[in-house]
Amino acid sequence: MNLILLGPPGAGKGTQAKILEEKYGLRQRSTGEMLRAEIAAETEIGKQAKRCMDAGHLVPDDVLIGMIASCIDKENCGAKGIILDGFPRTIPQAEALDRMLAEKGKSLCCVIELKVDEDRLLERLRSRIAESGDNVRSDDNEEVFRNRLSVYREQTAPIIPYYEKVGLLCSVDGMQPIAQVSADIDALLSGFDEDDDEECGNRSGGCCCHR
Ligand code: AMP
Repeated sequence: MNLILLGPPGAGKGTQAKILEEKYGLRQRSTGEMLRAEIAAETEIGKQAKRCMDAGHLVPDDVLIGMIASCIDKENCGAKGIILDGFPRTIPQAEALDRMLAEKGKSLCCVIELKVDEDRLLERLRSRIAESGDNVRSDDNEEVFRNRLSVYREQTAPIIPYYEKVGLLCSVDGMQPIAQVSADIDALLSGFDEDDDEECGNRSGGCCCHR
């Protein structure tokens, strides 16, 4: 069961991905976390990524596609499936993902969009900053956050119709309490066979949200 969590920064993708990992034995792959690890290790990718991330811009597609390709390649990456958190963020990334999964005989189960009220995301950001104390992310400040939101609108939101067209898009109200969002996602996933990747991707009529 391979799925994507989609939504603007602060929508709760990371929180829901962690819950899904626990419940379904899936592996979360957060490209933001992978990039922050590259920055911490001071790699070339990390240096390039830091400049983009600190400005609230996207890191170039080829870097991200390469990172996800090696992740999908690893045998131990998602025996039961993966939850992609923060990838894809552009149409070329979505197209590359389709190709990479197809090459491995895998497919997407569904794309879960966390729908949020953007006006209230700044409130969430302020609480996240307050809770993070000294560990606050360098891109978690209001100015950069506004950039990240506009990048989401311009470059990432177009992948919503891309997945809608192929019947994979499911939407959940991400403004609800965490437990309720999680329950709604469970309801969406309840129709899928957790262990059967093929069954998921080959389902005609597409996503559970159309039931
Ligand atoms: P996140 O932790 O998902 O909020 O990502 C933090 C930052 O990492 C983003 O603002 C981007 O600069 C970068 N990033 C993460 N994932 C991607 C991606 N799929 N494509 C391009 N940049 C990304």
